[in-house]
Amino acid sequence: MQTVRSLRPERVQPLDIDRSKHQLNSPGLVLRILLVFHYGKFIPLQITSQASMADLASVFATLLGVAQDAGVPQVACQCENCLTIRTNSGWPVCLAIVDNNAGKFWMIDATPRFPEQLNWLKRRYPDYRFCGILLTHAHIGHYAGLMYLGREAMSAKALPVYASISMQAYLSNNGPWSALIELNNIELKTLRDNDQLIISKDIVITPVAVEHRSEFSNTYAMLLSGPQRSLFYCPDIDSWQRLNLSEYLNANDYALLDATFFSDDELPGRNLREIPHPLVTQTLEFIRDQPFQTWLIHLNHSNPLWRPGKERKLVGKHAVQLPDFGQVWNL
Ligand SMILES: [Zn+2]
Ligand SMILES: [Zn+2]
Ligand SMILES: [Zn+2]
Repeated sequence: MQTVRSLRPERVQPLDIDRSKHQLNSPGLVLRILLVFHYGKFIPLQITSQASMADLASVFATLLGVAQDAGVPQVACQCENCLTIRTNSGWPVCLAIVDNNAGKFWMIDATPRFPEQLNWLKRRYPDYRFCGILLTHAHIGHYAGLMYLGREAMSAKALPVYASISMQAYLSNNGPWSALIELNNIELKTLRDNDQLIISKDIVITPVAVEHRSEFSNTYAMLLSGPQRSLFYCPDIDSWQRLNLSEYLNANDYALLDATFFSDDELPGRNLREIPHPLVTQTLEFIRDQPFQTWLIHLNHSNPLWRPGKERKLVGKHAVQLPDFGQVWNL
């Protein structure tokens, strides 16, 4: 039985996933910087957990935030989590895909923290080319960062933006997004349900349509497949009922799954039926006895898993983990 990676003694303050990497390594000896000879030159790498060296593998995914769309701290919120969480883990979820052989990276979704997330990637992989964004759906945490591609900011030149037909229609028919298309800051490319997209010699991406409230667009989860392994990335879904993950994943593969709410009494005064997500307890049931490894992502600011307590202990009894910021999954 696996334990939650971030489960630590109660004296540890509220979830500081970034710092936990160093704590896990070698108590008493905290090495923060390592120079690694990499593709002809020395680059600094933060020492993290054992996954740290995996990002020298040919293809991998890395996580740039653990929170739901609105991040932690959330605007105008004085809850315990929002008053205490001050780490990059509180950025809204974004998964980067890195191809070391080709010297390229892509991002899944453009969050409200897109500038910090892209800058983090550019610092870490300074010579790599940013080759595009793949969008899951039109809720703010997943596309609002596109605004930084426009002429007021980065003024991108025909950056590929991969999206479903309905997502493309939404962007094309509404400002300020339509200006990105008119001014050729972005070049829309089509994602179709279950249609494999080969973005690089070693990386295939398969969008998988999932049930999720669709005010402006449909929603995709993304299956990333590399030379060795696959990763199923599903930040938003209403319910697990119609999804069969064993169609997509084998033993040794990875699932990063929607864990927005832990319980249905988490948001007093809000009707959770208007914003449905599987509760964490339902997710634990959903992945029970599955051979792949699971991490919980897209945590709402109200989720008790942000801090030590009985909820983390409960999760720790199941074969799931909480991810670190910058965690690497070798594909
Ligand atoms: Zn979301
Ligand atoms: Zn809060
Ligand atoms: Zn959503």
